Amino acid sequence: MKPHHHLDHGTVMAYAAGTLDEAFMIVVASHLALCAFCRKAVHEAEALGGELMSELAANAVSAECRTRTFAALDQATLHRLPVAVPQTELPVPLARLLDATSFKDIAWKKKAPGVAMFDIKLPAHARGQLKLLRIGAGRAMPEHGHGGEEITLVLQGAYRDHMGRFARGDVADLDQDIEHQPVVEQDGDCICLVATEAPTRFKSLAARLMQPFVGI
Ligand SMILES: [Zn+2]
Repeated sequence: MKPHHHLDHGTVMAYAAGTLDEAFMIVVASHLALCAFCRKAVHEAEALGGELMSELAANAVSAECRTRTFAALDQATLHRLPVAVPQTELPVPLARLLDATSFKDIAWKKKAPGVAMFDIKLPAHARGQLKLLRIGAGRAMPEHGHGGEEITLVLQGAYRDHMGRFARGDVADLDQDIEHQPVVEQDGDCICLVATEAPTRFKSLAARLMQPFVGI
């Protein structure tokens, strides 16, 4: 089944350039594992970046700059994946990160009736927060704005909001101004992978006041 909701152009460019926060990088790589359309967009963005690089190549760079650039490239390709790898319940980049192939292997923590969560530990230097969220069938999340950038990838089940139906492979690539009220469909739980910007203190206070959902 092909995803219907894709990465926005800015996210594709930032992924290709290796400038996304690590948490977002993993959500994007997981979407790419399920979406040929966005894989093509990333290849095109990378080709464009390559052309720009070759135009700039006449400028001499310092050894330090060269080292930093290669280190950044290593990071940027860390979560790249072969196209033909068979997918488990968890897309390959996420399966590798969690060393798990099934949602049954996840140590879910109950947060509220019908809501469970698993915080994914990232390396100490990593930016952004990453979590798995499981919402029960037929449940509505309270309408909420976001304390910052957020990207959500549906991995199992489906929900609907004013933007349509989101099922496995679909991404909601939202900026902080958008409010939405997802409702999970009746025939099963919905499991999502969610990356959020690491909140500043002010943002996290705002989030606590405005977002009735603890931890989102
Ligand atoms: Zn896509």
